[in-house]
Amino acid sequence: MRMKLSLVAPCYNEEGNVRLFCETAREVLKGIEYEIVFINDGSKDHTYEEQRKIYDEHKENITLINFSRNFGKEAGIYAGLTHAKGEFVCIIDTDMQQPIEVAREMLEFLEQNPEYDEVAAYQKARIENKLMTIAKDGFYWFINKMCDVELYKSASDFRMMRRTVVKAILQMSEYHRFSKGIFAWIGFNTYYRPYEVHERNSGTTSWSVSKLINYAIEGVVSFSTKPLRVVIKLGIGTSLLAFLYMIIVVIQKLAFGNEVPGYPTIIVLILLIGGIQLTVLGIIGEYLSKVHIEVKNRPIYISKEILSYDPDQEE
Ligand code: UDP
Ligand code: MG
Repeated sequence: MRMKLSLVAPCYNEEGNVRLFCETAREVLKGIEYEIVFINDGSKDHTYEEQRKIYDEHKENITLINFSRNFGKEAGIYAGLTHAKGEFVCIIDTDMQQPIEVAREMLEFLEQNPEYDEVAAYQKARIENKLMTIAKDGFYWFINKMCDVELYKSASDFRMMRRTVVKAILQMSEYHRFSKGIFAWIGFNTYYRPYEVHERNSGTTSWSVSKLINYAIEGVVSFSTKPLRVVIKLGIGTSLLAFLYMIIVVIQKLAFGNEVPGYPTIIVLILLIGGIQLTVLGIIGEYLSKVHIEVKNRPIYISKEILSYDPDQEE
């Protein structure tokens, strides 16, 4: 018989959280046949040792995937989904910010509502500063203008899925993984429910401003080619303006002779066009680099070791 529920829990430097996560899961998920799929994403602390201890204690509930280095949360999620055995799969952080009670409620919702394929939880009250909120609002406005798929604001990757959805995500085997985009792209009937984010139990967030900006660029480039379109329009626009200006200059010269050297105009034009060209090159380069990596067809992650309990082998 198939396992009911898999919790896919990527961990990067979560030594202070994995045990609490496990114990909470055992309490909250009483009566449900579940497993925790732990990924150790190249942690620099003792996360792996902790996970290993927990695995030895509760083999039947744990699958442990140990990466050879840090591959990022998205790769962790992919590995977790690949090895999850459950009929329902939930992606959840290990830092206790996302309550396991909510996961249970999402599972019950799916069981009662067969018309829905997945439940995505979004943050009700955001514990973050104003600037961050404005930046995020701006990001979603921009990305939804740019992308071919609609991204649901504040929905994280905290979600409960049926097996069919997991299969669809695994088919998206691209190297540059932008989960929010992938979830939106595959479609399916999604129910959005609010939840209250808790404070991190221990450790610190691995996000920095620079990482967030990179993430935003990743999002746009992975799911849209519109920036290239915009660039073409920009190019045509500036060329037209330059051409008009050229005509004006020629007429001026013919009519009034060459009295003003026009130094400021030249500087302004050089800077303007130079700037546009650099931006355009950057955008093209961004896409090219994506193609470059994708063409190599590298694996999304490398695991040193996968520990998974197989009851048939034990007997
Ligand atoms: N994480 C990971 N690999 C990374 C960074 C983060 O597996 O390179 C995991 C981390 O252990 C946590 C989850 O992703 O379980 C969310 O990370 P974090 O709490 O730092 O992000 P935040 O909650 O601040 O968005
Ligand atoms: Mg967190």
